[in-house]
Amino acid sequence: MTEQYSLRIAHLYPDVMNIYGDRGNGIALKHRCQARGIEAEVIGVGVGDPFDPAGFDLILIGGGQDREQRRIADDLVARGPALKAAAGDGLPGLAVCGGFQMFGHRYIDLDGSVIPGIGIFDIETRHPGAGADRCIGDIVIDTPFGRVVGFENHGGRTYLTPGQEPLGKVIRGYGNNAEDGNEGARYNNFIGTYLHGSLLPKNPRIADDLILKALQRKYGAGTTLPPLDDSTEEAAHSAAIAAAMRRSKAR
Ligand code: GLN
Repeated sequence: MTEQYSLRIAHLYPDVMNIYGDRGNGIALKHRCQARGIEAEVIGVGVGDPFDPAGFDLILIGGGQDREQRRIADDLVARGPALKAAAGDGLPGLAVCGGFQMFGHRYIDLDGSVIPGIGIFDIETRHPGAGADRCIGDIVIDTPFGRVVGFENHGGRTYLTPGQEPLGKVIRGYGNNAEDGNEGARYNNFIGTYLHGSLLPKNPRIADDLILKALQRKYGAGTTLPPLDDSTEEAAHSAAIAAAMRRSKAR
């Protein structure tokens, strides 16, 4: 790449919403940018920190237990209108599990309390109560990015409003609600998913799609992304899928 491209990535609530290693998503994005000569910085945004989505090229939020989601809810809701407008303008992002739930309309948690969301995805999440099994295990889904693999651990069941596009269809594992075969959601360049892992190191095609969309929004639709030698990453991806297919049950 000739022009010096750079991306600023906002990682929302990195100290609170980061269970099961979701921080790895920012690490993977930064590595795949720098390997191409693209400057990339991942900036943590905590409760009460100044934050304007207009100053960023990509948004990340990870997962969290119910109590951690309650901890950040008021702060996230206050930032909701600006985030939703930016997502509508094509700002790319990745919201994982608890973050995914809160980028929908609301999450009715284990205790039956309503945790408000910001409505980027047209979804609602409901926890079925203490007696219900959690959705835990390896998961493989079919998506426009090909097969995607990860790990899920959630009590909440997410339901898409008719017309809301999923990220993919469950091949192995539970997905959004262990009923309808959907996993995740997409809105413009935002991706929501239950897949921890971290997701992006295991699924480089999604990482590159997020980077490309951010570059095109910042530098023009004609911007392209030079390929990397992903032989190691693709081997790891295939091995992770094979392991998940063995360990997890078909839907
Ligand atoms: N607390 C939410 C649930 O149990 C999300 C969990 C998570 O982020 N892994 O569904």
